[in-house]
Order: sequence, then C-alpha cells, then structure tokens
Amino acid sequence: MNTIQVVDLQGQYQRIMHEIQEKTNAVFQSAAFIKGTEVTEFEKKLSTFNSVNHTISCGNGTDALQIALMALDLEPGDEVIIPAFTYVATAEVAALLRLKPVLVDADPETFNIDATKVKNAISNRSKSILPVHLFGQCADMETLSDLAQKHNLQIIEDNAQAIGADYTFSNGQKIKAGTIGHIGTTSFFPSKNLGCYGDGGALFTNDSTLARKISMIANHGQSEKYYHDVIGVNSRLDTIQAAILNIKLQYLHDYTTARQQAAAYYDEALADIPEVKIPARDPKSTHVFHQYTLKIENSKRDALQHYLKEHDIPTMIYYPLPVHLQKAYQYLGYKKGDFPVAETLSKKVLSLPMHTELSDDQLNYITDKIRSFFK
Ligand SMILES: *Cc1c(COP(=O)(O)O)cnc(C)c1O
Repeated sequence: MNTIQVVDLQGQYQRIMHEIQEKTNAVFQSAAFIKGTEVTEFEKKLSTFNSVNHTISCGNGTDALQIALMALDLEPGDEVIIPAFTYVATAEVAALLRLKPVLVDADPETFNIDATKVKNAISNRSKSILPVHLFGQCADMETLSDLAQKHNLQIIEDNAQAIGADYTFSNGQKIKAGTIGHIGTTSFFPSKNLGCYGDGGALFTNDSTLARKISMIANHGQSEKYYHDVIGVNSRLDTIQAAILNIKLQYLHDYTTARQQAAAYYDEALADIPEVKIPARDPKSTHVFHQYTLKIENSKRDALQHYLKEHDIPTMIYYPLPVHLQKAYQYLGYKKGDFPVAETLSKKVLSLPMHTELSDDQLNYITDKIRSFFK
C-alpha cells in the first residue's frame, strides 16, 4: 500500500504527465506566457462547464474575492456578511478594502453559513453576502437569494471548494455552484478540486456589465492599453497554468466521481460509530468533497488525530480557530461565545485524507484504524 497523503498530487500527475508535458512544452516554445490563447480557451471552456455567460481568470482565489468586491463599488464602512467558520481569505479582502466584515455563525450540520441567522446581521449599511460553499457543498442559496433580493444585497459566492457542485432550487431549477449569485469566485490552488501547478483563480458572472468591470479591474483598470478608467490590480492567470487547467478540466468530472466514491466508502464504514458524525448532506446540493470532514464527539478529536498520525494516517483540522477569534480580527470587537457553533465545530472537526487517488486498500486501512480507536 502506498503512503497515505492528505492530498496526492504526484499520483494524479503521473496519469496525465504526457499530456501536460506536451502542452506546456508548446507554451514554452511559443513564449506567449501572458494572455496566451490557452487563457481565453480555458475561460470559454469553464463558462461552458458551468453554464455561465462570463468567466474571467485571475491570479488566485483571494484576488478573485477582492476583485469581486471592488466591482461592486462599495464605500468604506459598508458591511459585507460572511461566515465566522471559514478560511480567512473571505474576511481578509473585505478588511483590506476597508469594508466591515459582519460575521454570522455556522450551521452545525452542514458547516455552511447559517442562513436563518443572516437576517439578524442585515443593517442599512449591508451591501453584500459572501457565502462560502464550504468543503464542497453549497450554502443555503435559496434562503440567501430570497434575503438578498428583499434587502437589495449582492451575493458573491466563494466557490473555491465546490467547483462542479449542483444546487437545485425548490422550483426545480438546477444551477452550478459559483453561478447562482451576482458574482462567483474560485481558486485553482494545487490542492483544490480543479487545481493548477501554482496559483490561479477565476470569477464568474452572468451580468455583462459586471463582467466588463471585472476584466478591467483585474487588468490595471484598463479596457484599452495605457488608458485607466478605474483603479485596478494586476491579477492574471499564467498561460502555463491555463494550459494545465485545459487538460485537467477534461478530467474534473472523473475527479469529482473519485472523491464522491471515497466519501461513500468513508460513510459506509464509519456511519455506525456513535462518537463519529459523518458529513451531513443538504438535499438541495450535490457534494463534491473538497474535504471529507467528520465531527468527533466527546472531546476525542485530538486523541483520534494523534492515534491516526501514529499509524501514518495524516488528517487536517479545517479550521482550528474561527475568524472572530483570530488575532488580526480582534478589532471587529467580537468575543468568545459570540458564535458558539463555529467555536464548537473548530474543536470537533477532523478532515480525512481526500483526493482522487485513494485506493480501496488505503480507505480500508484508514477506516479500520478509526474503528479500532473507538473500540
Ligand atoms: C483556497 C480558498 C481561498 C483562497 O484561494 P487562493 O487561491 O489560495 O488565494 C479562498 N476561499 C476559500 C474558501 C478557499 O478554500
């Protein structure tokens, strides 16, 4: 049995190595490293994959969030509603733009922003809601969309973890994650579900005015070279990364299936352990398992993680400290106890190895060891 890794990028590379070498070599030969044809081709293909009108690539997922917020023309002090239980990037870009992050607690089952608590966070300065489709499953977009419409808020979906997930509204309308709100963002960080071999990101929108603005902002605020209409940033997807993504996008469906199969294996092997809670599914969303995250009850999480480590099974804690308890965000004035669900989750969650290369032997070994810990 191969060594178990949290993410196995080498194994994945081995299977597409020849294609990657051929395509990247062609880019090296052409020397079109910036804005080469691979970039426009990738944007088009990703638009088709997501059934969205516009895809604008950029330098990374954090830039994508920043550019999305910049495109909304907000004023300093305007409020953006974000989950307390998330990766820090979401809060970081809001803070950098002098916007006010207003945090909302997590749903104890899905880990996503608790949409029922968003209403109380809305004020007359609220401008935007930034749900994060955490671990690969969509937030409660139906409730959030209704709230956004009622209060005239723009939704920016942080879709760094759920590319390819489908969300079905009660009227039967099925939409891809990241294309439901006004703007969606994603990341192609190597370990993401669609990862490149460096940094990369993209924004999605169906609104052509927003799309034009986003393209300008990502490119120094210019639509014509050396004429700058708005203040922008320099955030580009390299041609090399686009060439790699054009290959990997063809396999995204298979990659997602492999993740879902590993998740199904974990579910079945772990469902009957009373102190282990397998990830809850929201019936409105498919789950693309960026992470397979358990809740471990009775304060046994850290001991289990230690035990697994001793048996060469690496695991991760996403995330050990909610945003409101991070040192950098103390200025927001939150305190311990403000978001009890996020605080409890940060002590219970444990993410198991999850990637496209897990073998049945490895899954069997991992689940066996978890079972023996609880015996
Ligand atoms: C990875 C990630 C980001 C940031 O993406 P980068 O490409 O690393 O900048 C933002 N939000 C979430 C939820 C992420 O998982």
